[in-house]
Amino acid sequence: MLLSRRHFILRAGVAAAGAGSLSSGFSAQTGGASKTGDKPLLASTWPFGKPANEKALEVLSGGGSLLDAVEQGIRVVESDVANQSVGLSGIPDAAGIVQLDSCIMSGPGHRAGSVASIEGIPHPISAARRVMEQTPHVMLVGDGARQFAIEQGLESVPVESAQKHAAWWAERARERSKAVKPNPPKDIRENHDTIALLALDRDGNLAGGCSTSGWGGKIPGRVGDSPIIGSGLYVDNEIGAAGATGLGENVMRYCGSFLVVEYMRQGLHPEEACVETIRRIARLDPKGFDLSINFVAIDKQGRFGAAGTGQGFQFSITTPARSEVLQSPGLTKADVGPVGGNRK
Ligand code: ASP
Repeated sequence: MLLSRRHFILRAGVAAAGAGSLSSGFSAQTGGASKTGDKPLLASTWPFGKPANEKALEVLSGGGSLLDAVEQGIRVVESDVANQSVGLSGIPDAAGIVQLDSCIMSGPGHRAGSVASIEGIPHPISAARRVMEQTPHVMLVGDGARQFAIEQGLESVPVESAQKHAAWWAERARERSKAVKPNPPKDIRENHDTIALLALDRDGNLAGGCSTSGWGGKIPGRVGDSPIIGSGLYVDNEIGAAGATGLGENVMRYCGSFLVVEYMRQGLHPEEACVETIRRIARLDPKGFDLSINFVAIDKQGRFGAAGTGQGFQFSITTPARSEVLQSPGLTKADVGPVGGNRK
């Protein structure tokens, strides 16, 4: 999608903000120019975020906490057996095992919990929340995360990863010895997605969560951006929250969600903050705009926005007054000039 006139106006606004003034002089479906928006507000990645948002709103309306709302909302997507990129129905790793990544963050208290490469746990978001609430740690991985989830009484299914992973590595060793290139993970582009859900309550408190099966066909043990605090998700209760979806390797090298929140701290509207984060990454990255990355953000005032590379992406917004899927702006090299500053 080419950038519309509104987004050219928006880019001018970004430049102005960089010079020290605030910029929100545009009217957008993605949050508008007003200084405040409806609360509660739920924003999430992709159309499959809409039922998650709606569940989260239901939880909040029923008196549930922000964290209950985030957890219950994300569990809706994790439970969807038709979803091939979130939960145990996700595309497995190269050895045929589904390894899941998830995290949760609470604005109040600035608390975080995360699990990575967890196997056989249908709701990794619940495991991430237990890590945050029941341990002194932020992140548990692999079998440690699985055993912790089981010990916490979370639902689990059997896994047979040890044999499958050993067989896969043995096969790689055989291929290497034959000097044949071992099967690399397939191109991620059509092979992944994440639910990142951001929540703002009536009091202006924030929380968020992420859950994904990551890169389909990944090397066993690969961890993407989604469970990494500051990469796939970041929440700052004074400012706002941001989440990412897309090729995690291109987000986690730049602390992408943290960067979006930092741009909002400088006064940018959430959409501008997402745009400026992508521009900054593209300027630095040897791949320029060929990054397959997308961000969604909300601020403490109830404004929201999103942006992605290429065609952009669809994201979901829910408030008491509306629940809909929106198209983010997409950024290409042609839109913003020289990129790929580290290209050698
Ligand atoms: N960011 C996820 C990962 O790299 C995948 C996605 O959201 O598309 O694991």
